[in-house]
Amino acid sequence: MKLDAKMIRYLTSEDFRVLQGVEAGSRNHEVVPTPLITQLSGLRGGSGVHRSISNLAKTNLIAKVKNAKYDGYRLTYGGLDYLALNAHQKQKVVYSVGNQIGVGKESDIVVVAHESGSQRILKIHRLGRISFRTVKTNRDYLRHRNASSWMYMSRLAAMKEFAFMKALRENGFSVPEPIAQNRHTIIMSLIDAFPLRQIAEVPNPASLYSELMEIILELARFGLIHGDFNEFNILIKEIPIPNAEGKTLDDSEPATEENMRLEPVIIDFPQMVSIDHANAEMYFDRDVNCIKRYFKRKFHFESDVPGPFFKDARKKFIKNPGKRLDVEVEASGFSRKMARELEKYMQDVGANGDGEDSEGGSDEDEDEDEEEQSGSEVEVSAEDAQSDQVSAEVEESSKRLEGLQVS
Ligand code: ADP
Ligand code: MG
Repeated sequence: MKLDAKMIRYLTSEDFRVLQGVEAGSRNHEVVPTPLITQLSGLRGGSGVHRSISNLAKTNLIAKVKNAKYDGYRLTYGGLDYLALNAHQKQKVVYSVGNQIGVGKESDIVVVAHESGSQRILKIHRLGRISFRTVKTNRDYLRHRNASSWMYMSRLAAMKEFAFMKALRENGFSVPEPIAQNRHTIIMSLIDAFPLRQIAEVPNPASLYSELMEIILELARFGLIHGDFNEFNILIKEIPIPNAEGKTLDDSEPATEENMRLEPVIIDFPQMVSIDHANAEMYFDRDVNCIKRYFKRKFHFESDVPGPFFKDARKKFIKNPGKRLDVEVEASGFSRKMARELEKYMQDVGANGDGEDSEGGSDEDEDEDEEEQSGSEVEVSAEDAQSDQVSAEVEESSKRLEGLQVS
């Protein structure tokens, strides 16, 4: 189902206040009863509010929910997207929305523009996208999680990612510039580069390899382990080096170490962990081995130096520590409790990041494309249907963003 962009653009101020009312009510009501929506919207009750509710439900920004005790509404991912985009727009962070360039397992990546015309990246976290019929660890509590708690998890992921990107950037790491965070979304600078995954050849694999290992060690020195350090999350900037006459290479020449410098830029931080984490060593080794395996397979490169090993990284960290970024992030508002909630989710759905797909398997949830959402009614009693409903809704929300102009 494709979004009618005009409909979104021309929400009346009343509709908008009602939408905000539903969001506010969702904080402590799974199903927000109509009288509460009226109260929270700050509008006088009556036909106006009802018209707005019906408009919002028609455009799938809210969904009607039938409950044993009372009927009411809940915010949808579409509604949450709208509110987040609106906030970015008000703060003049985003002017217009362009093409979607990536669909991760649990995120959408969209190019947006600032009013100056410069391009930026909008990353929308979509936890709950994975269809739980296909998840191996089919924990009951995941299945029965409701839509608003998925949205909460997505928001935690965005907060965490933004906090780490900021801390890393401020401490000299090569990461995108974090620009803004709102609800389940972040805005960051666009990196004009391809993921390592798409780079067929590098002039000197050994030097790129050691640079990447250096980054893993440097992160550890600042108290951190990336946790998903793979060929999708490393963007490779190609920076031409001018020759003696000041000329840079043209397309016909092969790139060599003399005429081209490769600069890795690291992205994707929702699964970062502290070097003090109980499983730190496992995460550290996994990051290291991911790069080892990839270089062997893709570039036929194997280092003759063993490691790096976690115990060495730890020694370096103790002897010559950088600033404790794990501690800094905690102090910045992404609390330990939030970290634990998000981590539990990630472990339970087996969110090992995008590396898992690297063997080229097709995306399982794609075949499962859910039944067309008929109308906007959801039975709360059908809990299994609910989690699938969330993934269907996420898909729909992703589609509607394509080509949507915010102006
Ligand atoms: P996910 O959590 O879904 O893996 P990522 O943050 O890794 O999301 O982004 C997915 C893909 O989108 C990346 O592999 C990369 O190709 C692209 N991408 C993400 N952020 C940027 C950025 N700031 N600049 C350019 N491309 C990006
Ligand atoms: Mg990724």
